[in-house]
Amino acid sequence: MARIRQIIHVDMDAFYASVEQLDRPELRGKAVIVGGAAENRGVVSAASYEARKYGVHSAMPMAQAIRRCPEAIVLPVRMDRYVEISKQIHAIFEHYTPLVEPLSLDEAFLDVTGSVNLFGLPEEIGRAIKEQIKTQTGLTASVGVAPNKFLAKLASDLEKPDGFVIITEQNKQSILDPLGVGRIWGVGKVTEKALHTRGIRTIADLRRSSVEELETIVGNGAGDLLRLAHGEDRSAVAPDRQRKSLSSEQTFACDISDTTVLLNVLLEQAEEVAQRLRKRRLQARTITLKLRYGDFRTLTRSETLGEATNLTQPLWEAAEKAFRHWNERSGGALRLLGLAASGLEPEGAGEKLLFADPETEKLKRLDQAVDAIRDRYGKRALHRGP
Ligand SMILES: [Mg+2]
Repeated sequence: MARIRQIIHVDMDAFYASVEQLDRPELRGKAVIVGGAAENRGVVSAASYEARKYGVHSAMPMAQAIRRCPEAIVLPVRMDRYVEISKQIHAIFEHYTPLVEPLSLDEAFLDVTGSVNLFGLPEEIGRAIKEQIKTQTGLTASVGVAPNKFLAKLASDLEKPDGFVIITEQNKQSILDPLGVGRIWGVGKVTEKALHTRGIRTIADLRRSSVEELETIVGNGAGDLLRLAHGEDRSAVAPDRQRKSLSSEQTFACDISDTTVLLNVLLEQAEEVAQRLRKRRLQARTITLKLRYGDFRTLTRSETLGEATNLTQPLWEAAEKAFRHWNERSGGALRLLGLAASGLEPEGAGEKLLFADPETEKLKRLDQAVDAIRDRYGKRALHRGP
């Protein structure tokens, strides 16, 4: 059975303009427009809510914005500062899940399906994120919590600014039905108008339409449109900067052929890579050794694990196996030894949650204890022998 996804959409309120009001308190409560100068045919990048009351919105020509709101304070874009705050916000997101899909500097989807065991219900995670953004940056965000991306984004927008809306399988239809068809993803002005001429104005109207009728308007997009009208969306949160691998490597002062020494180095690397995987709540399917000789000839040897893991023991065993294979077949003095973990996926992705294998549980507790000690006393505090 497919697990129900838990998606959070976070969207900062009037981001650039709010940052300006944050940094310059005298601007608070005033109409602030951030963007390019009117004399250079600039456009609005962001408008404070005070300016929006006059009908100013982003992407509008600045000259037009100033006509609508002559008392507005117009400021240039300070991208460095927005990026700085964006990084702070992302660090908060990544504390809760590795599955973060940024849509822009101030907006992202988070898949927290696998985070509930650690951090509680999705709505609790959403609340915590909203509060942390407020306390750490001084800015407000609107947050939507829902079983899919479409509904989560819709939810974050419903009570903007400073909104917090939860959409569930139970309440989704009553929330969707009265909304205009233009609120649906991919329904632009042209499609909206075409739907209106057929008397399809609300999402309820759309939901009652037949695929055949919708096909005459949007062609083969009809099925998708109907699914969205029913609040269904299967698209996955796609972290664009997702790491492909994690690695640790070491170059030696002089070439080393002593296998005991090399295995000790490899064990340290396995522990380091495993710990980094655990910190990022990722697990790996494959480990790869990188073996470089004194003449810079470089070999790689991979080993695929039975199942993805971030436990030190199985990762180390796979690394050791690959090393012994290499040592039996080629061997030699190495200038560099490295270990990479790849085939990364979020922790618990393929896990059967019903029965935990007691051996795995034991290893997990051991790793947690080692991680805690190393976090406190440093990397060299604890060692296991190969
Ligand atoms: Mg925003």
